[in-house]
Amino acid sequence: MKTIGVLTSGGDAPGMNAAIRGVIRTGIYNNMRMMGVKHGFNGLITGDIDDMDISSVSDIIQRGGTILRTARCDEFKTEEGQKKAINVLEVFNIDGLIILGGDGSLRGAKALSDKGIPTIGVPCTIDNDLGYTDYSIGFYTAVETVVDAISKIRDTSYSHGRSNIVEVMGRHCGDIALYSGLAGGVESILLPEVPFDIDSICKKVIQGKNRGKLHNIIVLAEGVSNAYDVAKQILDKTGIETRVTVLGHIQRGGSPVPFDRILASEMGKMAVELLMEDKSGRALGVKCNDIFDMDISEALEVEKQFDVNRYNTAKILSI
Ligand code: ADP
Repeated sequence: MKTIGVLTSGGDAPGMNAAIRGVIRTGIYNNMRMMGVKHGFNGLITGDIDDMDISSVSDIIQRGGTILRTARCDEFKTEEGQKKAINVLEVFNIDGLIILGGDGSLRGAKALSDKGIPTIGVPCTIDNDLGYTDYSIGFYTAVETVVDAISKIRDTSYSHGRSNIVEVMGRHCGDIALYSGLAGGVESILLPEVPFDIDSICKKVIQGKNRGKLHNIIVLAEGVSNAYDVAKQILDKTGIETRVTVLGHIQRGGSPVPFDRILASEMGKMAVELLMEDKSGRALGVKCNDIFDMDISEALEVEKQFDVNRYNTAKILSI
């Protein structure tokens, strides 16, 4: 292994830059030639690839987003697209590839590995929806952003005696809602893993009001229901005004928290070391604070488990 390429793909996640830095610096430390592929799998198809040196990753550990940029690339899902990518890898003499991204991007990594390209996948997604790993890079930064927003909304919720819904991201996974709801001390957490029950939410709003609670915050994961519809239902059933804040892409940005920077640095380093050991088709993950690698096909088959205990804790503490 002489030359290693790195790319970021799919949704961006805070900590991707720290992972790129980990990859580039480890490679250079081990006398590898390091290359950055731009715009996800698009850059692999079009040959948008540059050499990277130590200073090309200076001053990025603290930055959100990704200096390599990211994109979705439908062409790469086709045989034709993958063939083009493999040709480009040959033209640039790239011997191994490190792919930073979520579920879709790791499927792309698997596709290349199945075709004989040494490939390592590093989990980067704020959604934390990959079942094989406790955490993905970016998740804790997103939770930090949501908790900060909840604290601010709590002030105004208290002052006006209103109920507030905070809609958060996560696609089909309720982890952002669950962790930020628990950390933010909210009254209700609505997530895709638990059936939606408007009456129990309204009951909580009324009970809270009756015992003198001045604020009521509901965290709603996207995709469960429309936040404005829920607000209207609460108003209709309780007479209590409910305001909606949809946090949106603010959750994708920002400086990564130390946990994400450390995870990204360690995974970036390990990804290079695996390629140097001639390992391929591996996905990196973290379990009980230990970083591990496993077969990428097996990793992608592990179903995400809902943390019922954590959900119950949040429920008990919000009575
Ligand atoms: P994320 O990686 O954040 O989950 P996507 O699901 O949009 O984001 O996937 C990012 C990109 O990964 C896609 O645009 C595509 O280029 C590639 N990809 C996704 N699924 C596959 C697949 N089954 N085979 C090959 N490439 C894939």
